[in-house]
Amino acid sequence: MQETLIMTPGPTYVHEDVRRALMKPITNPDLDLNFYEFYRGLCDKIKRFLNTENEVLVLCGEGILGLEAACASLIEPGDKVLCIHNGIFGKGFGDFAKMYGGDVVYYEGDYKSGIKYQELEEFLKNNNDFKVATLVHCETPSGITNDVEKLCPLLKKYGIITVVDSVAGMGGEEFKVDEWNIDIALGGSQKCISASPGLTLLSISSDAWNKIKNRKSPIVGFYANLNNWSTWYEDKWFPYTQPISDLYALDVAFDRMLKDKNMIERHKDIAHRVRHSLIEGGLELYPLDSFSNTVTTINIPEGITYKEIYEDMLNKHNIMIAGAFDFLKDKVIRIGHMGENCYEEKLYLTLKALNSVLKEHNIDLKKDLHQSFVLD
Ligand SMILES: *Cc1c(COP(=O)(O)O)cnc(C)c1O
Repeated sequence: MQETLIMTPGPTYVHEDVRRALMKPITNPDLDLNFYEFYRGLCDKIKRFLNTENEVLVLCGEGILGLEAACASLIEPGDKVLCIHNGIFGKGFGDFAKMYGGDVVYYEGDYKSGIKYQELEEFLKNNNDFKVATLVHCETPSGITNDVEKLCPLLKKYGIITVVDSVAGMGGEEFKVDEWNIDIALGGSQKCISASPGLTLLSISSDAWNKIKNRKSPIVGFYANLNNWSTWYEDKWFPYTQPISDLYALDVAFDRMLKDKNMIERHKDIAHRVRHSLIEGGLELYPLDSFSNTVTTINIPEGITYKEIYEDMLNKHNIMIAGAFDFLKDKVIRIGHMGENCYEEKLYLTLKALNSVLKEHNIDLKKDLHQSFVLD
């Protein structure tokens, strides 16, 4: 049987070259000094990719470990934390902050829109005694990308350390860690980066390191404790045995991305055309603005259910798309166009299949989705 086309917003397709790297013979990563150089080289590639001079680490655990490690390491009991949210991941960040003793204040934006700069600016005028702020770059369940380029410098103006979850953004959206004043930027291997799931990566600014190193109370936990990594290179010591095969694969995935000069433009172009084709067909997107370039979230039209769309797409067309969870459960479908999935032919096949599934269920489409995707 032909391989299923996985068009979910992560995990994404893993290129053969990346998969081949998983088969490389392994070494002992604690004893082999070459491995320390390899790991440093990988972190340097990620720095270039994130446009940062900040230290970069790759940790063994998928995206969520990055979120937890940032909160565990930065936040001391009683620290005021601003949780800026307009979606499920953004709100969930507050739970991690609380888990480590943060005194969390929620700043809620419209869940169908990007966080508005001016409104946040107004709020901060009277409320700005925060140590840390958390926010999400791309809200994957709703398909919204927040303007972290503007929001983070605004927060930094008040001396607030910014933690940005860009697990579903980096690689598909423009992302400039230093220019945008992002203290901790978080990513995961399985989204736009298109490597095997299981790794998180993060960049840590000197302000963030200062906060971590000058804590009064020790960091609770080991696995999420970034301080354990502060002298790994000098001491030739890793806190635990490295997931060496996954790191080899991640390295190849970054080589592929750094070679691809057109990556961000391709995401913009494909995302734009996907949205255009859906709107031309008469379907409705979930967000009102700030549309993500890595995932598109579509309201399920009347007359069909999520389950019917999911099953027909998979069983009749061998294509997997996603629904969402929490308050969006059974309300929307999501098409991922991230990383290795962000190519015209894959979206053409996906939209053609969706077109046929909807038509078979007597959903009226004003135009064929795949036609307007390629023609307009
Ligand atoms: C995928 C993703 C994560 C990682 O979460 P998992 O549910 O474990 O995949 C974190 N944040 C965002 C915004 C994501 O899209």
